[in-house]
Amino acid sequence: MKISEIILEWYKKNKRLLPWRETRDPYKIWLSEIILQQTRVNQGMEYYHRFVARFPDVHQLAVAEEQEVIKLWQGLGYYSRARNLLAAARQVENEFGGKFPSRYSDLLKLKGVGPYTAAAVASIAYKAPVAVVDGNVSRVLARLYAVQDAVNIPAGGKQIEALAVELLHRGNPGDHNQAMMEFGALQCVPVAPDCLACPVQQFCKAFSNDLVAALPVKQKKAKIRNRYFTYLIIREGVHTYISRRTGNDIWREMYEFPLIEHDSAPDETEILHAASLLTGLEGSRLTISRLSDPVRHQLTHRRIIARFLHLETRGNLLQAPGHWKRVRFSEVGDHPLPRLIDRYLELNGESPD
Ligand code: SF4
Repeated sequence: MKISEIILEWYKKNKRLLPWRETRDPYKIWLSEIILQQTRVNQGMEYYHRFVARFPDVHQLAVAEEQEVIKLWQGLGYYSRARNLLAAARQVENEFGGKFPSRYSDLLKLKGVGPYTAAAVASIAYKAPVAVVDGNVSRVLARLYAVQDAVNIPAGGKQIEALAVELLHRGNPGDHNQAMMEFGALQCVPVAPDCLACPVQQFCKAFSNDLVAALPVKQKKAKIRNRYFTYLIIREGVHTYISRRTGNDIWREMYEFPLIEHDSAPDETEILHAASLLTGLEGSRLTISRLSDPVRHQLTHRRIIARFLHLETRGNLLQAPGHWKRVRFSEVGDHPLPRLIDRYLELNGESPD
């Protein structure tokens, strides 16, 4: 038997039962692929059900308000995915007459759809003979064929793509692609795979050359940079202030408490000074209730280290900048919030009055 057939057989016996595997609807397959891009299956499942329940087809999603889509996405991170999801649904509606495109090249035109997602949708929903390469597939191939180049740079990536095409089961590309991904996720795992129980061990060059732990080779990524935030939770009776993030930065279009960003880790004096400058209030007109310990939040290339300064004003003395929105504290949660803030409020029992 050929490698692809053995892996297909393995897949039939070992695959996890996941809702997006029970359908050939390109919309649902695309939705699941976007959700799972940077999310584990268990967490992604809940969001998949949530989206399918609220937007059962691409038309329902296309006519949705962006704020609702982002709110539904809240907690998954990488919010550009949610915005792209909506933009792509609108493209399907306007440019493809409401029907999900079937050609790989057309799928690639959709916002947020790269070669991986286009190949997944084309092969699974339409049985197009295109090979999917994700992190799992790349690891399996790098080990089976002992690819020595780093798989995350063009030279190694090209070898992996060529191998993926060569191995593709042309009669059953959709199941083949899913089988390869599942094989990487469950059998050929990153650390200490159980090679003795592996059905393709006899073909595996990494195994025969004792290279399993060394492959795949990866080039180190750029260093992660810290960003230091202080959020002001200003209480004016039952009200507080939030503002919408704009510009080309993380969490665009989401809401947050008034923010001070520092160049380096600030001490308490620096935070209080910056807060009084920002609010225009000091001394008797402003009470500082508390300053939280630093809260860490990891993003792809950044680590956010945030502190929350809780303040109370007397009366309506604050001259709030125009872009701040005064809302009841109980309404803050109705706005799309970065996970960092949402979690802080949750963990600190910050409830409505
Ligand atoms: S033998 Fe080990 S390294 Fe090779 S494909 Fe199987 S699990 Fe992966």
